[in-house]
Amino acid sequence: MKVLKFGGTSVGSAQRIKNVAELIRNRGRNIVVLSAMSGTTNTLVEIADYLRRGNIDGAKETVNNLEKKYARELAELFADEQWLSAARDAVNACFAVIRSFTETPFATAEKTILAQGEKISTAMMYCYLQSLGVNVILLDALEFMRTDANSEPEITYTRNRLRPLLQRYPDAQLFLTQGYICRNSNSGVDNLQRGGSDLTASLIGAAIQAEEIEIWTDIDGMHNNDPRYVDGTAPVDHLHFEEAAELAYFGAKILHPACVLPAKLNNIPVRLLNTMDPQAKGTTIDNNFVHHPRGIKAIAAKDNITAVRIKSGRMLLAYGFLHKVFEIFETYRTPIDMIATSEVGVSVTVDNDQNLHTIIDELKKFATVTVDRDMVIICVVGDLEWHNCGLETKALEAMGEIPVRMISYGGSDYNISFLIHKNDKVKALNSLSKHLFK
Ligand code: ADP
Ligand code: ASP
Ligand code: MG
Repeated sequence: MKVLKFGGTSVGSAQRIKNVAELIRNRGRNIVVLSAMSGTTNTLVEIADYLRRGNIDGAKETVNNLEKKYARELAELFADEQWLSAARDAVNACFAVIRSFTETPFATAEKTILAQGEKISTAMMYCYLQSLGVNVILLDALEFMRTDANSEPEITYTRNRLRPLLQRYPDAQLFLTQGYICRNSNSGVDNLQRGGSDLTASLIGAAIQAEEIEIWTDIDGMHNNDPRYVDGTAPVDHLHFEEAAELAYFGAKILHPACVLPAKLNNIPVRLLNTMDPQAKGTTIDNNFVHHPRGIKAIAAKDNITAVRIKSGRMLLAYGFLHKVFEIFETYRTPIDMIATSEVGVSVTVDNDQNLHTIIDELKKFATVTVDRDMVIICVVGDLEWHNCGLETKALEAMGEIPVRMISYGGSDYNISFLIHKNDKVKALNSLSKHLFK
């Protein structure tokens, strides 16, 4: 059994839903995970925002516009009146849920509103596959996806709930479910954060020990640089899980960062494939180094980084200094990404600056603190094991004309990171591609 996940653009119109149905209908008894149609989650966020601010008219108007869009897509998807009516009923039920929050006071409605995007896309696909004569079962992700009190997915729960569900339908040709949505530890409707459908696919894959997890999107695999900023990027054939994790965490949007771990731990290969070009080879991510060419594979960039320099008279010889610094970040639940040390100070970066003000107040009790905002981490990923001479020099050469605030190398065998100002990001990405891949 495989898990096949289709992202927002892959199901972004009636025509694309038809294309995906063709791709999945004869591929065996797999589990298909769908995102909301592209743009829908953003619109649902907007609706929830209007409601939170008490602008009921704004919310209602946005719901009406979204509903009109779906009416058009439904009319295009179904030629058969009977199936059109069944799909319309299912979609209308989702809109009724959204509308109910424009009538009653808005309390914890947001997550329920956000969940309707995936509910709608799966309802449409479910009816469409049935109209083609496919024996498909629609599974409600809220019945087997759950996060714990720390918002971490509970994989054992998913395993225990999902396996019996699958066994209940021995004749099913295909299973369909929603990405992104889950319940939380209070049994409320919740989600796995934006882009979280990739994580749903990976968790389901791990729960059923799938043969493979396929992430179908709008590009032919992980490219060697961010195609939104660099022309002429090329897909990477193979990545090790560790390399993929670095790229995903440091900004390669194609993959949700948390989705690598469940697949890696359960040794399930992940393939990144293109719905617009299903024959393209894509990228395979696994635990295997054998077929991987040595060298630098790809570059990614992570935005909205803040750098904090913490200086003290004598740092390294004063043992306990780093402990004191890290303890403060831990107390305020703020993860650190990059670190650089010297005798007189330490620099760290964070991407979550929610508690930074308090952290800085604490640090100032024993050190001088300076903060640089609007920074970007540029992450160069590949086989950077330290005996491979020259790779880091090449990366450094590419950064020759760009002011670099921090460098991190040697933390793993896969990554060298540079911290630069956001204004230099596009120049840095292009220069790295030119030096490393051309
Ligand atoms: P989906 O909606 O299918 O989940 P996403 O928009 O989340 O798709 O991810 C696909 C997008 O990721 C691509 O369209 C591309 O613009 C962007 N992207 C960023 N970095 C990379 C990269 N290194 N390789 C491929 N795509 C990337
Ligand atoms: N629909 C959600 C989002 O737009 C989840 C996903 O697409 O992965 O973030
Ligand atoms: Mg995505």
